[in-house]
Amino acid sequence: MLSLYNTSTHKKEEFKSIEKNKVGLYTCGPTVYNYAHIGNLRTYVFQDILKRILQYNNYDVNHIMNITDVGHLTDDADSGEDKMEKGAAREGKTAWEIAEFYAEKFKKNMVDLNISEPTKWCKATDHIQEQINFVQKLTDKGVTYETTDGIYFDTTKIDDYGKLANLQNQELKAGERVDMGEKKNPHDFALWKFSPEGEARQMEWDAFGKKGFPGWHIECSAMSVKYLGEQFDIHCGGIDHVPIHHTNEIAQTETLTGKKPWVNFWMHGEFLVLGKDKMAKSDDNFITMDTLKEKNIDPLAYRYFLLQTHYRKQLNFSWEALEAAEVGLKRLHGKVKDLKNKDGKIERLKDLKIEFKEKINDDLDTPGALALVWESLKKDEIDYDTLLEFDKILGLGLDKIEEEKIEISADVQALLDERQKARDEKNFEESDRLRDEIKKLGFEVEDTGEGQKISQ
Ligand code: AMP
Ligand code: ZN
Repeated sequence: MLSLYNTSTHKKEEFKSIEKNKVGLYTCGPTVYNYAHIGNLRTYVFQDILKRILQYNNYDVNHIMNITDVGHLTDDADSGEDKMEKGAAREGKTAWEIAEFYAEKFKKNMVDLNISEPTKWCKATDHIQEQINFVQKLTDKGVTYETTDGIYFDTTKIDDYGKLANLQNQELKAGERVDMGEKKNPHDFALWKFSPEGEARQMEWDAFGKKGFPGWHIECSAMSVKYLGEQFDIHCGGIDHVPIHHTNEIAQTETLTGKKPWVNFWMHGEFLVLGKDKMAKSDDNFITMDTLKEKNIDPLAYRYFLLQTHYRKQLNFSWEALEAAEVGLKRLHGKVKDLKNKDGKIERLKDLKIEFKEKINDDLDTPGALALVWESLKKDEIDYDTLLEFDKILGLGLDKIEEEKIEISADVQALLDERQKARDEKNFEESDRLRDEIKKLGFEVEDTGEGQKISQ
């Protein structure tokens, strides 16, 4: 049984897909106005693990991931600048160039972290008409209103607004001041924004009688419904998406389709934090994959670091902890090489596989799964094939660990040949003496089933 924590019911539930053996999965993608920081990447690693686990449970996963290349404002309350236009001004490029550049960088980060690609990428700017149609249909249903700066969703027109985040129970206290501009209610949100008077935007379209651009939330609703249908299985994002982005996606989509629930399982990854600070893309001192590479840290050591903590727990980043994770990963590489050269049948493999599956199927318990791998290595209860099978979930690239080729001089090779001859003649005294000779030249010799093995 696969159980997953569902944010909308606040508990772990048995996962059942709508269609047998198939899963529709939508994950909110990056806003491509800057590099992804390692906090953002934590969320994508969590989603990758989820997808691998679904596949391990024989589901065919239709994974849609968007690229936000317009409409995400610097302020969640629908004011502030468009992050894309701001990024373009910062770099003296067009918003389109910025989008292209950082989307490619993001895809490169995914490769470095062994995150598999979605079945389909979709860009917000490639789906403008779908978003306009969505807003028009909501207007036809009478749940929108227009202000001087855009078209807004009237959250008082539906009775379950905010159910995902339990916002109904957290109403603003009487007298609390909120800058609402022309909004009628504090939670109302922009579906479509009009370009500011006298300001030429790089990304704008003709709709609703003016120039304008989509609000941030509408893209995910329009594209997920287009590619996954009016009801689908799982929708993910970072924990910060619960109270605003996903809450608004639910309000507008369920109002449009009239079908509830729109999504059966909502899953959210906790944040990576730096001390008590959130890592934010808008700060200049954020850490990216390039920062790790400059420090010669293997990106997969960061993946290993993430796997050690459950995705629903906040994780504190420190360089010391990352370095410790890198040591752990290197030790694991060593074990993979050892297992590759080892024969012999291992008892209990079936039990081990069952136990491993139980861990990962218990709401993605990667720390438990890793601990089990180490325990089985310590007890000599795992073989190479099984470790590689488990790595289908862990994604640490263990299948690509190559034996390091050791360069040896002709002298050392001559000693090795001599030693082999001594061993063939069962002259163990001579063989030990030659081992010491070889050691003096900086090499260790080990006798394995396949002959002498040399290491440095
Ligand atoms: P963005 O590119 O800003 O739209 O964010 C991309 C994803 O990263 C979203 O799912 C966010 O929820 C997530 N995210 C943002 N900051 C963090 C963080 N510090 N730790 C983990 N996830 C984050
Ligand atoms: Zn989204």
